[in-house]
Amino acid sequence: MANDLAHAAKELGIKYFLISYVDLFGSLRAKLAPAAAIGGMQKAGAGFAGFATWLDMTPADPDLFAVPDPDSLIQLPWKPEVGWLASDLVMNDELVAQAPRNVLKSTILGAESIGYQMKTGVECEFFLTTPDGQKISDGADNATKPCYDQSALMRRYEVIKEICDCMLALGWGPYQNDHEDANGQFEMNWNFDDALVTADRHVFFKYMARSIAEKHGLRATFMPKPFIDLTGSGCHMHTSLWQGDTNLFEDPNGELGVSDLCYNFIGGLIHSADALCAFTNPTVNSYKRINAPRTVSGATWAPNTVTYTGNNRTHMIRIPDAGRLELRLPDGAANPYLAPAAVLAAGLDGIQNQREPGKRLDINMYTDGHKVRGAKKLPLNLLDALRSLEKSNVLRTALGAPLIDGYLKLKHEEWNAYSRHLTQWERDNTLDI
Ligand SMILES: [Mg+2]
Repeated sequence: MANDLAHAAKELGIKYFLISYVDLFGSLRAKLAPAAAIGGMQKAGAGFAGFATWLDMTPADPDLFAVPDPDSLIQLPWKPEVGWLASDLVMNDELVAQAPRNVLKSTILGAESIGYQMKTGVECEFFLTTPDGQKISDGADNATKPCYDQSALMRRYEVIKEICDCMLALGWGPYQNDHEDANGQFEMNWNFDDALVTADRHVFFKYMARSIAEKHGLRATFMPKPFIDLTGSGCHMHTSLWQGDTNLFEDPNGELGVSDLCYNFIGGLIHSADALCAFTNPTVNSYKRINAPRTVSGATWAPNTVTYTGNNRTHMIRIPDAGRLELRLPDGAANPYLAPAAVLAAGLDGIQNQREPGKRLDINMYTDGHKVRGAKKLPLNLLDALRSLEKSNVLRTALGAPLIDGYLKLKHEEWNAYSRHLTQWERDNTLDI
C-alpha cells in the first residue's frame, strides 16, 4: 500500500490522480490532480463546493475537502498513468457526518468495538447497451431464456475479457463471468473482502465497466430496470461477520450450517427491511425491479416479500451455503457505501436485540407467495421506502441524524420532481375520463 502518494507516483509512473468521492445519490465525483501536486493534496485534500453535488449542503458552506485514503489507491489498468483514490470528506477540519464513505467507516468502527468485522461480496449486474442507452447492444441477443448463453457472452468477449483482465491485474480474485437472465445483461464476480474494501471496489468496478464499455463503443448501465419486460439488475450482497480469521456466521451444528448470531442478524434485516430499501433500492426506477411482474425469461429473480430461505432464489434473503447470507434486495443503483452501512446497522440491531427471523420458508415465492400469511411486503415505491426510513429508529441511531435527515430531504425532493413528471401512461389512461 502506498502511504506516501508522491513517492508512489514516482515508483508506479503515475502522472495524475483522480481524488474521488461518492455522494448521497451514489454519483462518483472527482478532481484530477497532477502528481506534482499530490503531496499537498494528500495532507489537505482536494477542494470542492459541496452544494454542487448531492450532499445536503448550501452554496454558503465553506470548502469541502476530499482527503484521499492512500490504502484505496488503484492504478487504472487501462490507463496506468492515472491513479484512483477514494476519499474521506472533511469540512471545517471535521469529518462530514453524512458523507457515505465516512458513514460506512464509522459503522464499521462501531461494529469492531463490539468484536465484529463485516465481510461482503457484491454481484454487480449490468447491461451493455447502445451509446444512447435505448437498446441492448447486441441485436442477436434475443433468446427468451438468455441466461448463460455462450454465444451472446462470447460476442461481448472483448469487453468482458478486458474488465476481467483488469481485475486480475488488480488482485481482486475474479473467478467467473456470465451472461445473465436478461438480453444484454452480464455479471462478473470477484472475491469477497472486508466491507470497506468491497465498497471501494464496487465504486471502482462501476467506473471501470463504464469506461471499458465506452472504449468499445458501448454503454454499461447499472440502472435497476432499464427495460420493463426484462429481468432487472440486482446487486446481491453476500454478508458475514468475522472475528479475526473466524467466521462467526458459520456453525456446523446450526440449521443450514449457520450460527444463531447469523439468524439474529437476519432477524435484524427482516425487522428493518422496509427502511433498508431506501438505501438498497434508492431510485424511483428501483421499484420496477422488486415487486415486478414476471419477465420474458419466466422470473424476475428479485424479491417481493420480506422472507428468508435456504438455497432458493425467490426470497429476500437466501442462505446459499454454510457461513453466509445473501441479501437479494440491493439493485444496481444501491449506494456502495450506504447500502452495506445500513445492512450492518440493521443486522447488529438484530444481534443486540436477539431478533428472531421467524420460520424459514422453503417455497417458491413467485408461485406460492400468496399462501404465506403475515409476511411483510416490500415497499411498492420510493416514497414508501422513504417513509419507512423516517420511522426507523434503528437506522437513525446507527447511521446518525445528519445522514438520515440530509438523505430524506434530498430524496423527497427527487420524489417530488418525479411526481411532477407527466407520463404517457397517464395520458393513455386518463385523457378520456
Ligand atoms: Mg445474478
